[in-house]
Amino acid sequence: MKRIVLASRPDGPPTPDNFRLEELPMPAPGPGEILVRTIWLSLDPYMRGRMDAGPSYAAPVEIGATMEGGCVGQVIESNNPDFSVGDFVDHRFGWCTHGVSDGKGLRKLDPEVAPLSANLGVLGMPGMTAYAGLNIHGRPKEGETLVVGAATGAVGTMVGQLAKAQGLRVVGVAGGPEKCAYATETLGFDACLDHRAASTPHDLRVAMGEACPDGVDIYFENVGGKTLEAVLPLMNTFGRIPICGVISWYNAGGLGEGASEGQNHLPRTWRAILVKRLSVRGFIVTDHYDQFPEFLDLVGPMVKDGRIQYRETIAEGLESAPQALISLLEGGNFGKQLVAVSED
Ligand code: NDP
Repeated sequence: MKRIVLASRPDGPPTPDNFRLEELPMPAPGPGEILVRTIWLSLDPYMRGRMDAGPSYAAPVEIGATMEGGCVGQVIESNNPDFSVGDFVDHRFGWCTHGVSDGKGLRKLDPEVAPLSANLGVLGMPGMTAYAGLNIHGRPKEGETLVVGAATGAVGTMVGQLAKAQGLRVVGVAGGPEKCAYATETLGFDACLDHRAASTPHDLRVAMGEACPDGVDIYFENVGGKTLEAVLPLMNTFGRIPICGVISWYNAGGLGEGASEGQNHLPRTWRAILVKRLSVRGFIVTDHYDQFPEFLDLVGPMVKDGRIQYRETIAEGLESAPQALISLLEGGNFGKQLVAVSED
């Protein structure tokens, strides 16, 4: 079997040297255990955080340990009566081709319900993140305006489409004209602004003001940086900001330092929260996994009948994972970033 380990911690953006490919003997399942081959590996922005040593909501990946990650795989040997050879499961063995498990915490997947890869995107952790962040912390109401960054990514795609289905005006922010056209033409967003075309937060703010004539009631925070600076002054009184992620700062090194180009925006930001009586609420998707069945009941049919659209960017082979993660952190993905580790 093959695996990719964390070889060293990055200083700023990760480089290929931070990863190392290793070949190991194929593990053998013991009594009550199963051997799973990985089909799909999910690449996600949180992986950048796990490469740093600093404290966070989850422990860092140790140097020399397998990079973490969610996967979909197939059982190829079973000593466990609950699993048969051929079953599809989701698992968290990380960046590797095979893994052994006692089956605890593994979810069996039905390839008839949706393509297997969708269980790592729209019907998986990112979809659930959008659902929980929007509905629990965003508290959307018909007629309100929502802004979401990384709008064509795994989470943003779902946030915007779920909000549209509830009658909100949805304005996305994405990198480049192709992504923006996809957001409006395919995902049905009302507008999408290209943050790469706006050279300053002020330019983006002007464009956002035009796209949000009634102000912003919900800012679903995926990116921080220029987008946050542009949207904050447009927030309506009693607006909500579910803080899901701040990807524009993940490669900054010591999150946040140097991110505001030498200016201290904290006083202005803090005061805006006070004056506008904003609800600003950080959340981690795992806080809400008790609602996963409800999420699947609602979103599963929407995916099946095409009311929810999604895209995937696929890197071929486990060896391609480091470069694909490096690219994801710079916006190189268009939709959910996956690695095809073995045949579907
Ligand atoms: P995406 O599929 O959206 O991929 C990341 C995207 O981020 C890129 O494609 C790029 O899109 C955008 N991006 C990268 N750099 C910048 C930048 N400097 N400024 C603005 N946008 C940038 O990833 P996910 O949907 O998986 O994740 C989206 C966010 O949600 C992340 O912040 C992630 O950490 C967070 N998250 C949080 C969870 C939680 O439990 N709180 C769970 C899952 C995700 P573009 O080219 O359009 O700029």
